[in-house]
Amino acid sequence: MKLPPEARFSTICIHAGQTPDPGTGAIITPIFQTSTYVQEELGKHKGYEYARTQNPTRAALEANIAAIEGGRAAYAFASGMAAIDAITTFLAAGDHVVVTDNTYGGTFRLFDKVLTRYDLQFSYVDTSQPELVERAIRPNTKMLFVETPTNPVMRLTDIGHTAEIARRHSARLVVDNTFASPAVQRPIPLGADLVTHSTTKYLNGHSDSVGGVVVAARDEDAEWLKFIQNAAGAILSPFDSWLVLRGTKTLTVRMAQHNANGQALAEFLEAHPRVSRVLYPGLPSHPQHELARRQMRGFGGMLSFDVGTFEMARRVCNRVRLMALAESLGGVETLICHPASMTHASVPLERRQEIGLTDSLVRISAGIEDIGDLIDDLQQALD
Ligand SMILES: *Cc1c(COP(=O)(O)O)cnc(C)c1O
Repeated sequence: MKLPPEARFSTICIHAGQTPDPGTGAIITPIFQTSTYVQEELGKHKGYEYARTQNPTRAALEANIAAIEGGRAAYAFASGMAAIDAITTFLAAGDHVVVTDNTYGGTFRLFDKVLTRYDLQFSYVDTSQPELVERAIRPNTKMLFVETPTNPVMRLTDIGHTAEIARRHSARLVVDNTFASPAVQRPIPLGADLVTHSTTKYLNGHSDSVGGVVVAARDEDAEWLKFIQNAAGAILSPFDSWLVLRGTKTLTVRMAQHNANGQALAEFLEAHPRVSRVLYPGLPSHPQHELARRQMRGFGGMLSFDVGTFEMARRVCNRVRLMALAESLGGVETLICHPASMTHASVPLERRQEIGLTDSLVRISAGIEDIGDLIDDLQQALD
């Protein structure tokens, strides 16, 4: 069980960071449910002193995700928001950040309601347009924080191009890669400095854990994250680390099915007379389909569609039988939601209108069920 240096993606997902337990040979890294570690003598230990600082289950997950994203190191946190909060510690009072305008609601809340109190400045910009990113940059801009595709309107940002802008202005490029997953998109090889995930979504993939991770492309950034993870202490628990490790082993096959089901649902919906618009990067009608083909391998399991009126959106959400009406995404079961009243209810109306988030928009997180059953379900809900 030695990972060859040139190992390919799915092999990395299964084996990176994993070694059989030296005591028993257990193939799966155990859940090290311990708070401290016994030291042999004063100043002599096995690299583990206290479990906020080091935990073998968490370390196995972190090594695994670092390899999956092609980074130097990864650090796992108690939630996606805790991971993003850790990233903001790279900033100091007076710094400015350019953020994708249609960013995750929790990210906007953290930046706008909490961090502005510490004299940090944020500009929300349509990062799908590099010239708008360029124009938003100030002398004190230290970070570009990008999400691609965005939720729920599936707008894309060119990661390579944005990385080039960030480099030119000595700012870090951070990519929240939650929506795509590393099986679909790997921002570090494209030039990103930091990648973050809510592992709650595709990395865990089974809707039974909340967590987050930050992957660093450079050793200096990794050192700081390691320091902050211990200093602030928002660590991922051993049990959740174990769950996410179980999830990453099947990431490749799950994502292949999420991609296939996402594509098939998007095509079905685009051909349906009751649907006026489908937002999915895998459709040639998506305005950034060419960028999607360049930047993504498969187009993910997230799609949104417009059914013309709020009343119709409500009906579709209430009439599905197999699909579950719920927030969140990235699990094996298909979820449906109404962003304007659920995930994005706190976004002001004018802002929703600006980004094309209408009241008649419905979002689907395509699971990995049989596609025939998913299409039958939507068909009966739309009829
Ligand atoms: C869910 C999500 C988060 C926040 O993650 P939590 O695990 O819920 O804290 C951040 N970014 C994106 C894109 C998400 O979908």
